[in-house]
Amino acid sequence: MSVYIICPMCEQGRVVTYRVKATGEVLQCCDECDSTWDVGAELSATEFGFIEDFLRERGLDPFGDELENVEGP
Ligand SMILES: [Zn+2]
Repeated sequence: MSVYIICPMCEQGRVVTYRVKATGEVLQCCDECDSTWDVGAELSATEFGFIEDFLRERGLDPFGDELENVEGP
């Protein structure tokens, strides 16, 4: 697939869908600046979080291997 979403925050990174292994939650995250959105949410430059905070809130290691890419090839 060559279709991908450019991050509205950094305008460089690609927004990829990930699953949090520990919780099964799915989120969208920029692979460049780590901005994070809920799946289905509009990618907005004003409403976003960071993956670090998302993982910390759940007691997970933000620098660990907690995410898996669910977009497939
Ligand atoms: Zn970005």
